[in-house]
Order: sequence, then structure tokens, then C-alpha cells
Amino acid sequence: MAARDRFDRPLRSLRISVTDRCNLRCQYCMPEEEYVWLPRGDILTFEEIGVLVDAFTDAGADRVRLTGGEPLLRKDLPDLIRRLAQKPAIRDLALTTNGMLLADQAAGLREAGLHRLTVSLDTLRADRFRELTRFDGVTAVQHGLAAAREAGFTDLKIDTVVIRGVNDDELVDLLAYGRQAGAEVRFIEYMDVGGATRWSVRDVLSRAEMLRLIGDALGPVTAIEEESSAPADRFRLPDGQTFGIISSTTEPFCRSCDRSRLTADGLWYRCLYAREGTDLRGPLRAGMSRAEIGALIEDIWAARTDRGAEVRLATGDRRPFIPIETLQKEPHLEMHTRGG
Ligand code: SAM
Ligand code: SF4
Ligand code: SF4
Repeated sequence: MAARDRFDRPLRSLRISVTDRCNLRCQYCMPEEEYVWLPRGDILTFEEIGVLVDAFTDAGADRVRLTGGEPLLRKDLPDLIRRLAQKPAIRDLALTTNGMLLADQAAGLREAGLHRLTVSLDTLRADRFRELTRFDGVTAVQHGLAAAREAGFTDLKIDTVVIRGVNDDELVDLLAYGRQAGAEVRFIEYMDVGGATRWSVRDVLSRAEMLRLIGDALGPVTAIEEESSAPADRFRLPDGQTFGIISSTTEPFCRSCDRSRLTADGLWYRCLYAREGTDLRGPLRAGMSRAEIGALIEDIWAARTDRGAEVRLATGDRRPFIPIETLQKEPHLEMHTRGG
């Protein structure tokens, strides 16, 4: 039985950041010139991640997503995937990547036992990709997606953060590309999470606006009714193609949120917007057993009341969530450290 929090939400989905490093500098996530990195000695080994995952599955978790930073930068990542894929308690093992290194790694990830892949791609235009990420990469990401299909990943997703005046003219092109690449596209509202220091409410294209744009271009959009705690609401186009919208900013879904995040150095956060996390690396390295850590996780989850995005919306406080000076002192508040 999964542990339940104060709002009766089960502990189910665990996102594990395997590194805080990244090979891109997306303007909505890592726009600054300098970052403070986690000390190397603090980064969890694969064995330590394995023990913590066991403790989490004991407490009810049955879905694991590897993320970062850029997870494909973590050396020998397939070894971790192989270790996790052997755990029967994990029903769903997924990974989110920016796709830059995917062409070379897709087959190895599949062979190691990864179930699902999500690739982030915000634009199909080379010049725009460079403006958004500071690197050239659109072709590399497209090759990565093709390699993923070839390697046998059938449940592929493309995640696109939509920013007004930046890539809101590409929704229809991205849907066409998703159809051709065999991937379901999910449009994500720009969020004021830690790290998004350039965020402004004016730059958010709402779910309602996205639906209007897509409907105007491609015909009536039908909502797909489904019971799910997944963050994306899914829709169908007249030709049958499906897509998703993650409306974290204008219509948050905290009431069904079963997700929590483990940083690369073992801090556990119960919400993307939480200011405080729980150190699990310390107890683990001090010799606490799997069972004891599992019990600790259950107790802490039972007290959870987080609903960060709903609180942000209700306060109407629409400046970036964490000012840059605070981020420099507390890197754990960064999205790329916490794991998106
Ligand atoms: N580097 C990998 C990637 O980009 O896919 C994994 C980590 S990244 C933090 C995970 C996801 O968070 C990406 O899809 C990214 O677009 C999303 N993300 C980062 N900052 C965001 C923001 N301010 N608003 C909405 N989504 C954001
Ligand atoms: Fe972009 Fe992901 Fe890197 Fe953030 S962690 S800068 S979203 S690629
Ligand atoms: Fe879950 Fe926090 Fe995101 Fe709400 S803001 S959906 S509680 S992680």
C-alpha cells in the first residue's frame, strides 16, 4: 500500500536527478553565465540510488523517471538503468533528456531495460534552437529521436516549453514533426520554477491560447477523457493525432500530484516549489537500513501538504519564484538540480 499524504495523495512517482550538469543552457532553465555545482563526493553512487529506490518502492513508489540536469551526461548510465530495470516493484522506468547525446546512446538505454523516453525539443529551427539553448543541436536531437525509434522505443514523447513570442508560432509544425517522428508532443506552459530567472507572466502562453491556436489551424480539438495522475491533459485532432498540454501555470494539477524528486546528491523534495528537502544521503551513508529509510519516507510523506503551483496561482505573485541571489546560495532550488 502506497503511503498517503495529508490530502490523500499516494506516493507513486519518483524523479531522480542523476546529475546537475547540463550540455545546454535553455533560457527558461539555466540562463545565467555561472552556476554553483554540487560537490562530486556528494553525488549518489548507483548502488546508493538502488538502495534509496528500494526504500521508495517499499513506501509505495512504482514509477521512476531519470532526469537532471542532462541525464545522458552521467557516466555509465545504462548500468543504473539495468540495476533499476531488475526491480519488479518499478512498473514504469522512464527518462527525460534534451536528446543531444541520444543518437549514440538510445540503443544502449533500450538494451539496459529502459521502458520509455521523453525528449525535450522546443523548436525545429536551427537559429532559434541556438538562441534558446546557446548551442547548435536541432539536428542532433532529431537524429536522437530517430535512433530512439529504431532502438524500439514506441512510447516516445516530445516535451516543448511554449514561450510567447519565442516559439508559439511552431505548435503546428511541432505536431507535424511529432507525427513523422512517431512521438506524442506535449506542450508545457512556461513555469516560474527555480532557475527561470527571466520568467514573466507575459511570456506564458496559456493552455487555452494553445488550444485556440491549434484548433484554428487544424480543426476542432477533442479532449480525451481519462483517469490519470499524469500531468498532461490529452487531446485529439480531427485526423486522430493526439497531443498533450501540461498547464502547470494557469491550471495546476496539484490535487492529484503523486510526484516527488530526489536530487543527484540525495535530497528529497515533495514539490517542485518546495524550499526545503530531506537529506537521505546522510542517513544512508551513516548506515541506516533500507527498512528504516522506507519508514522515514512514509512518515515524511504522510505529513505532506505541498501544492506549490496552486499556491503560486492563488497568491497572484507573478515574479520569478526564487531571485538569482538566493539561487547562487542555494543551488538545490534550481530546476536543473532538483530534476525537472
Ligand atoms: N535536461 C533534460 C531535458 O531538458 O529534457 C532533463 C531535465 S529538464 C529540467 C526537464 C524538463 O523541464 C524539460 O522538458 C524542460 O523543458 C522542463 N523545464 C525546465 N525549465 C522549465 C520552465 N521554466 N518551465 C517549464 N518547463 C521547464
Ligand atoms: Fe535545458 Fe534540460 Fe539543461 Fe535545463 S536541464 S538547461 S531544460 S536541457
Ligand atoms: Fe506537485 Fe508541487 Fe507540481 Fe503541484 S507544484 S503538481 S504539488 S510538484
